[in-house]
Amino acid sequence: MLAVHQAADGGLARVRLPGGCLTAQQLAVLRLAAAELGDGRLELTSRANVQLRGLDADGPRELSDRLYAAGLLPSIAHERVRNIMASPLSGLDRETRYDVMPVVAALDEALCDRRALAELPGRFLFALDDGRGDLADVRADVAVRALDERTALLSIGDRGVRVEWAAVPELMVAAAESFLQVREREWRIAEVAGGAERILERLGLQGSELAALESTRVVAGVHGAALVVTVPLGSLTQEQAAALGAVRVTPWRSLVVPAGTRGLEEVGLVTTPDSPWEGVTACAGRPGCAKALADVRTDAAKHLDLRGRRVHWSGCERRCGKPPGEFVDVVAVGDGYLVDGERL
Ligand code: SF4
Repeated sequence: MLAVHQAADGGLARVRLPGGCLTAQQLAVLRLAAAELGDGRLELTSRANVQLRGLDADGPRELSDRLYAAGLLPSIAHERVRNIMASPLSGLDRETRYDVMPVVAALDEALCDRRALAELPGRFLFALDDGRGDLADVRADVAVRALDERTALLSIGDRGVRVEWAAVPELMVAAAESFLQVREREWRIAEVAGGAERILERLGLQGSELAALESTRVVAGVHGAALVVTVPLGSLTQEQAAALGAVRVTPWRSLVVPAGTRGLEEVGLVTTPDSPWEGVTACAGRPGCAKALADVRTDAAKHLDLRGRRVHWSGCERRCGKPPGEFVDVVAVGDGYLVDGERL
C-alpha cells in the first residue's frame, strides 16, 4: 500500500510521476480520488509529482487500488524511489536537442526491475535534461543532459562523462546500484566522501569535474506545440483539473498542455508569463501542517507584488517545497514574516 504521511489535516499521499507525465485518464482518476478521498485538490510538488491531502484512515488503501488500476503504481516496492525528473517540454518545441521522454520510460522500467534499488533513499533523484538546461539547479544525484542526437553528458554528483544515449538507462541504474554499494547511511551521492569518483570507477568510466550551469527558466505561455500553464500556488482545483486532458507536471508548479487548449483562464489557470502568480510558491502552511506559524497560502495571495521574481512562502524554517535555485525567501516567524532574513 502507498506510504502516507500523517499531516494535521489527515493523510498526505504523494504520487510519483516519472517525467511528470499524466494521461487524461490518469488525471481524471486523481481528480476523482481527491474529491472522494481527500480535500478535493491536487497539489503539484517541486519534484513534478502530485500530492493528495486530507485522506481519512481508509483513504490510503482505496487510493492505492485506484492508482494501481490506472498504472500509476507499477511497483509498490519501488514507489518511493521513482524520482525521475525530465525537461517537461521535451519533444514539444525547438529547444529540444533530444526527446528524453522515451528514456524516462526506459529508466523507470529498469529501476522497477531491480529489486535492490527499492532500497534507494527516497531523496535520491534522477534527472534528464533535453539540452535546454532547465534542470541545471535541481541537484540530481544522477543526471543526463543532451549534447546532440547521439550523445549525452552523464553527471554523477559533480563529475561528468560523455556517453551514448543507447547506454543511458542502464548506466543510470548501474550508478544507483553502485551508490548503494559505496554508501553507509548517506541519502545522497554528494554526502558520500569521494562518492562520484568511486561510482564512476565502478562503472568503468572516467569523469571530469563539471562547471556549474545556469538554469534556464520555463515560463507560462506557448512553446512550440505546447502551452505552459501556471497553477496558482500549485494547487489544482476540481474545476481546473476537469478542464484539462493529458498533462506534464513541471517542477515549477505549472503544467504543460497542448497549445490551443481553451477555457483555462476561465477556471483560474494562468497562460501568460506576466501574471503576478508566475513564480510564486508556498508550502502547505496552516491549517494543513501542524508546524506552520501562519496561513501562508492566504497571505501569499494577498501580497502578489513581487512580480517577475521567484518567491517562496514558508510556514516555518523547514521551507518545504522551496524551488530550486535562487528565490525570495519569505518565512513565517509567528508574529509576521522574514523576507530574505529581514522583517516584512
Ligand atoms: S515549511 Fe514548515 S509549515 Fe511549511 S509545510 Fe514544511 S513543516 Fe509545515
